[in-house]
Amino acid sequence: MARLAILRWSCPKVSQYDIRRGPPGLTTINHTSPTKILINPYYKSVRLNSTSVPDCNITPNRQFSTIILHEARHAYQDYLSSVDLGADDDDPIFEFDPDNDDDQDWLVDIVPVAPSNILIDSQTPRSVCERPNTIIDNKTYNGENSKDLLDTPDFVRYALEMDAAIFADTHENNNP
Ligand SMILES: [Zn+2]
Repeated sequence: MARLAILRWSCPKVSQYDIRRGPPGLTTINHTSPTKILINPYYKSVRLNSTSVPDCNITPNRQFSTIILHEARHAYQDYLSSVDLGADDDDPIFEFDPDNDDDQDWLVDIVPVAPSNILIDSQTPRSVCERPNTIIDNKTYNGENSKDLLDTPDFVRYALEMDAAIFADTHENNNP
């Protein structure tokens, strides 16, 4: 019975973990439906949970752990864009739920779990990552009531990748 209960427990933002061919890890974020996380253990470093090539200029010590954490962080980024975390900055024109990401561009008001500064929707400079390994310093975005685009010209994707890479690097050795 306990096992059944575990299998039936569901997360509102992750619909499925799957092992399949393709890139080592893949999560497609969206604002409307749960996220699917795909892992490809074909790669030797993934099967052995060993070190691999750098990503965002960070060399993983445990590639399988890093991928799980990296992709889970993408799902969390998606969650952050779909909730109201209490920031009181709603524009009267753009205001709609969810409050944490009024303009629905995945850059948000509040990130409760570190790193907390990379995904903030503001003109405050921060370092972001053009994969695989180009770090762009002093990247700014448009602010919470002007939608930044995932790719050109705003490149929200760079912030999402830097944030996921740093989160994974911070936690990959938690359970050696
Ligand atoms: Zn990623």
